[in-house]
Amino acid sequence: MSTETNRIAIKDGLFAGPLDDLADVHLCGSKCAACGETGLGSLDACPNCGSADLSPVALGNRGTLYTYTIVRHRPPGNYRGPAEFKPFGLGLVEVDGVLRIMAPLLPTIDDLRIGMPLRLHPYVLRTDENGAEVIAFAYGAMGE
Ligand SMILES: [Zn+2]
Repeated sequence: MSTETNRIAIKDGLFAGPLDDLADVHLCGSKCAACGETGLGSLDACPNCGSADLSPVALGNRGTLYTYTIVRHRPPGNYRGPAEFKPFGLGLVEVDGVLRIMAPLLPTIDDLRIGMPLRLHPYVLRTDENGAEVIAFAYGAMGE
């Protein structure tokens, strides 16, 4: 197995640390020194107070399902999900008690429960035009 993985985040600044070992990848947050708010990803300004005094923090890879909805119809346009569309959960996942992250949910829709514990699941979404693997994330049940 090659030790050189050419991987990029689906959005710059989304993940903390290298992407080689997907089991050990964490999301990155930006914590505001002025008001204490934490936002997802590398941010230039606090989404709560506008301060630019932000520090990167690695977020925990576990969360709790705060609420969710079911996407029952294939989104239009450049949707890049599976060729055969299956309804899936789209959740707000509370992480570290400091922020809620919107993400696709891996459990089948009948297994979703508000308050269920979830685990971050980074995965290879696709390969881009330069041959780099594009890493996105979802949340799965603790055993997934
Ligand atoms: Zn702030």
